[in-house]
Amino acid sequence: MRRARKGRATLAAWALAACAGMLGADPADAQAAAQEIVRAGVQPPAAGPAEYFTGRVRVDPAWPANDEINASGGTVTFEAGARSAWHTHPRGQRLLVLSGVGLTQEWGKTVQVLRPGDVVWCPPGAKHWHGAAPTTPMSHLAVTGTLNGRNVDWMEKVTDAQYDADASNTERTTMNADQRLSRKHQAIPPIAAAMAVGDMAQLGTALNEGLDEGLTISEAREVLVQLYAYAGFPRSLNALGELMKVLEARRQRGLKDAPGRDPGSLPTGKELLALGTANQTRLSGAPVHGPLFDFAPAIDEFLKTHLFGDIFGRDNLDWPSRELATVGALAALPGVESQLQSHVRIAMNVGLTAPQLRSAADVLAARGFREAAGRIVSALDKPLANAPGR
Ligand code: MN
Repeated sequence: MRRARKGRATLAAWALAACAGMLGADPADAQAAAQEIVRAGVQPPAAGPAEYFTGRVRVDPAWPANDEINASGGTVTFEAGARSAWHTHPRGQRLLVLSGVGLTQEWGKTVQVLRPGDVVWCPPGAKHWHGAAPTTPMSHLAVTGTLNGRNVDWMEKVTDAQYDADASNTERTTMNADQRLSRKHQAIPPIAAAMAVGDMAQLGTALNEGLDEGLTISEAREVLVQLYAYAGFPRSLNALGELMKVLEARRQRGLKDAPGRDPGSLPTGKELLALGTANQTRLSGAPVHGPLFDFAPAIDEFLKTHLFGDIFGRDNLDWPSRELATVGALAALPGVESQLQSHVRIAMNVGLTAPQLRSAADVLAARGFREAAGRIVSALDKPLANAPGR
């Protein structure tokens, strides 16, 4: 009992020093012969002090340094935009990213993006900061060596200018400017392209990134459901199987993905045809007709009732996301350039800008879909004339 109380007091004290404590070894603990378990939730969290952190930061202490292992450990959770001040560690520090998207920078070098599973070594004396991405929280385990009872030397705050300095880097593009896609929207084209070509390894990576960026399970699933209309049932079914695997693996890693919402109900029969026709007209900017649809009226009815009614009528995925998915999938498929061009135009009709679509192409190129990226750029560079088919 005495030991437990002492342990609690010690942890509470060092927690206040945030991701770096002022505490050294505890000889009493070091001599303990019996195993000890400190139960989850027992150690109180602490807020990262405003003098050392910008934004909301929570520190959950895990263990103090002792004689055997001269490094403290704790989980630090940064809300979106939050970060540490510049600092050094006299004995160095290891960071293991647990969730979200983070940023870190060493003095004089460029900002680096951190994702779950990334491990950072901060050598002794290297001036650096770490924190969350502008629009996404980040949590990391920090294991920090101790020298003469100290494990951090704090310096000046990271200014907004320093934090935003690397904003042109598409890896950390944020959502607000017309020129940029939100991180969540950026995640969709690579999912779509990987699904369309049936590359399950790329798809798994892209789905993980999308979920990390805040795509709900419902949204990720809906992208893959919708794309059956563009890439076929076999690709869609394989991709949905991959999503199930990704979600199960993430559950086992302790990640809690938001389920999102189910779509509302839709009309049937003539009302569905009317809804789909209205959706198609809104998306395309004008009623859609032509000799192809006179020649094959069934495909016209399927497009109107099923694609633009049944699928685009589902309200669990916004239309810009649906168009980013369609553009990403069509871009990855050779021979459907005219449909890609139609959907580049539709994407703009639902509010996406040409620079945002160029940034979608940049994201695809960065993920290795260079031909797909080139097709989007070609479609953007062409005059936006009517192209056949949808
Ligand atoms: Mn550090």
